[in-house]
Amino acid sequence: MSNEPTIFALSSGRPPAAIAVIRISGQRARAALIGLMGRVPEPRRATLARLCDPATKEIIDEALALWFPGPRSETGEDMAELQVHGGRAVVARLLEVLGGMQGFRLAEPGEFTRRAFEHGRLDLTAVEGLADLIYADTQAQRRQAFGQFKGLLGSRAEAWRARLIEARALLEAGIDFSDEGDVPDELAARAVQIIAPLAQEIGRAGEGQGERLREGLRVAIAGPPNVGKSTLLNRLARREAAIVSPHAGTTRDVIEVHLDLAGYPVTLLDTAGLRETVDPVEQEGVRRAWSAVAEADLVLWIVDPEEGGGAALPSQPLRPQSELWVLLNKSDLLAPAVQAQLAAKLAERICGHAVLTLSAATGAGVETLLQALSGFAEKFFTAEPALVTRERHRAALREAGEALAVALQLRPSGHEELVAEQVRLATRALEGLTGRIGVEDVLDAIFREFCIGK
Ligand code: GDP
Repeated sequence: MSNEPTIFALSSGRPPAAIAVIRISGQRARAALIGLMGRVPEPRRATLARLCDPATKEIIDEALALWFPGPRSETGEDMAELQVHGGRAVVARLLEVLGGMQGFRLAEPGEFTRRAFEHGRLDLTAVEGLADLIYADTQAQRRQAFGQFKGLLGSRAEAWRARLIEARALLEAGIDFSDEGDVPDELAARAVQIIAPLAQEIGRAGEGQGERLREGLRVAIAGPPNVGKSTLLNRLARREAAIVSPHAGTTRDVIEVHLDLAGYPVTLLDTAGLRETVDPVEQEGVRRAWSAVAEADLVLWIVDPEEGGGAALPSQPLRPQSELWVLLNKSDLLAPAVQAQLAAKLAERICGHAVLTLSAATGAGVETLLQALSGFAEKFFTAEPALVTRERHRAALREAGEALAVALQLRPSGHEELVAEQVRLATRALEGLTGRIGVEDVLDAIFREFCIGK
């Protein structure tokens, strides 16, 4: 038996709450149940029990207790779960009693999940999917996270690895039989039949917008000062669906509002007024605003009708992949006929880009804008679920794909051992992806994302 401490934590939200869930994992989980309730419930059956302080016999609470013997538990170890009344004093007393038991300590953030990973219950991509599931704000994020948690990428990577191991075995058999005429060639040809389609498949797997779905589509609200950028952002932020997510990046000069549009996360960025200036502080603001505009997937360029048809349009180039819409704001100041005229003039100047008319102050046209944004998000995140949701995944797949490409190039040279070495490198990259082999600091970074009790 290992000497690892048995860990425990409050796994539900902060008390007070109707119910609090305390989880215990480790070889002494059974002892905790016996200490608190005098017996061990039937495996995986909710059991009503009185929990007592083992020292004083005072009843602490009446609770539902569950017993999950390892290795078929979430962490792979013996586990217990107590569903108690979610009061501060109840939770505090139970944590105190558990902390006083020999061989017990409070779990660190993500430690239950880390133990699940170390006992082979989850691979590293599933761990990342679980973190994403906990932080998912929108339904599309939830779907992607759940897919990742259930092995969308992990099980595919495992299948690729198994085939690469087969290919390498063929190549190595060829090396062993190198003096037996055609045999090595035939074996190598069979290995190539495995490698060639895999190289393509792994390359394709890196496509998709998985990271963007985690982080949110970036939409910059830009334009000269006083055209109504902040007013529009405030109007959009007041909507029910505006997400305030504490984990999203914050920028000092660029204000972000997170929206849930048709289940897709959209991050709206309000940029400082974009104009030429000599004030160094303002220049820095403008520089940051431009970089937000340059990185955005969509730029909403706002135009003030007072500027007329000659209003300023973006003076710096956008990313080729990003889209530009021109919003003619303050429509409340214009007669409809004038609005239409102005919009037509602008459309002519920026041919190919959409022009929308709205009033950030009155809200006219804002619903149409939101519908257009939802449509844009839907198109951006195609129906195909993305395999890759992090740069870490993309890097591992790139490494595997490149090694296989080199293997295929080397093959005609007849140096089977060099080809086999590239296949080995590709296999290793996939093993890093699923955490079969791991570098401690990568693991630490991933598990740090979790809260205590997960
Ligand atoms: P920003 O500098 O681009 O962020 O512009 P603001 O949002 O601060 O707005 C500049 C001025 O225009 C403020 O006085 C707003 O009240 C006004 N404004 C913004 N949107 C509208 C609109 O749709 N109609 C009218 N009439 N005024 C607006």
